[in-house]
Amino acid sequence: MGSSPHALFLPYPAQGHVIPFMALAHCLVDHGFKVTFVNTEFNYARLVAALADMEQAASGRIELVTVPDGLDLEDSGGRSDIGKLTAGLLKAMPPCLEELIRRRGDSGDQITCVIADQGMAWTLEVAKKMGVRAAAFWPASAAVLATILSIPELIARGVINANGLPMAEGVFELGPGVLPMNTAYLGWNHLGDRTTRLMLFNYIFDNARATAAADFLLCNSFQELEAPVFAFAPSIIPIGPVRAAHRPGKLVGHLWPEDTACTAWLDGQPPGSVVYVAFGSFTILDRRQFHELALGLELSGRPFLWVVRQDLTDDMADAYPPGFIDRVACKGKMVRWAPQDQVLARPAIGCFISHCGWNSTMEAISNGVPLLCWPYFGDQFVNQTYVCDEWNTGLKMVADESGIITKEEISCKLQELLGDVEVKNRAMALKEAAHRSATDGGSSYQNLTRFVAAMKE
Ligand code: UDP
Repeated sequence: MGSSPHALFLPYPAQGHVIPFMALAHCLVDHGFKVTFVNTEFNYARLVAALADMEQAASGRIELVTVPDGLDLEDSGGRSDIGKLTAGLLKAMPPCLEELIRRRGDSGDQITCVIADQGMAWTLEVAKKMGVRAAAFWPASAAVLATILSIPELIARGVINANGLPMAEGVFELGPGVLPMNTAYLGWNHLGDRTTRLMLFNYIFDNARATAAADFLLCNSFQELEAPVFAFAPSIIPIGPVRAAHRPGKLVGHLWPEDTACTAWLDGQPPGSVVYVAFGSFTILDRRQFHELALGLELSGRPFLWVVRQDLTDDMADAYPPGFIDRVACKGKMVRWAPQDQVLARPAIGCFISHCGWNSTMEAISNGVPLLCWPYFGDQFVNQTYVCDEWNTGLKMVADESGIITKEEISCKLQELLGDVEVKNRAMALKEAAHRSATDGGSSYQNLTRFVAAMKE
């Protein structure tokens, strides 16, 4: 045993990364680690502003520190442009990180390991250069990570060209039994405009190479969920589901203030009745689609809890269809941001209309909730394929010829999903499998224990 274990956590600065990193940080604290958790200055300000209880910001053995993200602090819109944000990070972060690790060492508070986002794998090289153990954590599916790590083979096989573009349309296989991938769904081709996509493909490719510097490559999945991927890519170690939501009073890492009152509203609804609707932190609906969704929920006649972020659509002041708010007042509840993992655990929840971000997908699994899938970008299409074609725990929304998911489609699919006992049974079976893997003796539990022991050596 060297110095007392002290991990530096470094998530990519987006909501869907900060939450699972915070959950993993709590796990390491349980194992006796001190954690220094790095947020960008911009996200730190949001995180603190979102806290109901400031004491959480000084969360025991987790110390929050900040680094700049290379963008103007006033330029809040710039951070929803992943290309711009990533370029800013690459410019601003490396020297700050080195300085942070060095300063801790100089003050006798030595960082003993770095847990970096695989999406910022270049930081692993910084850690290695400074003689610190390093692990990469990927807060999404192993299937997508295996695809990223296979980029050289995909180029060699002629599946994609050197710019990440498909050479032909259709399905390809990574390895035996691995979820068939569609070239149309390669995540890097669903992020921003053409220039951004090329820049991000090169960034992702560079990160794939830099991942070789990791002593461990962890992901927020579990063995039983994606077994063929772990057989194909044994370097990927599943430790999920990692969850912070069930640690009352502990920091979760929300960047928006949670509407905690909605759980009391949910508890007044009949079991299995409520449709929960949320699209994560990035997705934006155009005005017509926003209206159809509102009308579809109304048409379904089901009670619903709908997360309507301030930036979910243009002009929020006038966003809803005329009279909608009054007509649904008894049945529906709109909130700006929900404590999602806790919401999904409530008995009243019947199903989840989701954009299929990986965290949302894992939270649905962890709570046995069927999904109505409505993917927008990145890895969300792959996650939908898992849900609808592999696990059979949800259904797909189908757009009409103009690209809109109509109110009739929404209402029909809700009736179909909520009436399907088999889907619910499969969702409950996956919940059990997730629970078994993450608790004493389960596969993720054992992997985490091994990882922790190695990081303490
Ligand atoms: N989330 C939440 N409250 C909300 C909406 C989302 O706590 O009202 C959380 C959700 O539980 C998940 C994360 O935000 O942990 C979103 O991550 P995901 O990968 O699903 O989507 P992304 O935001 O990355 O597109």
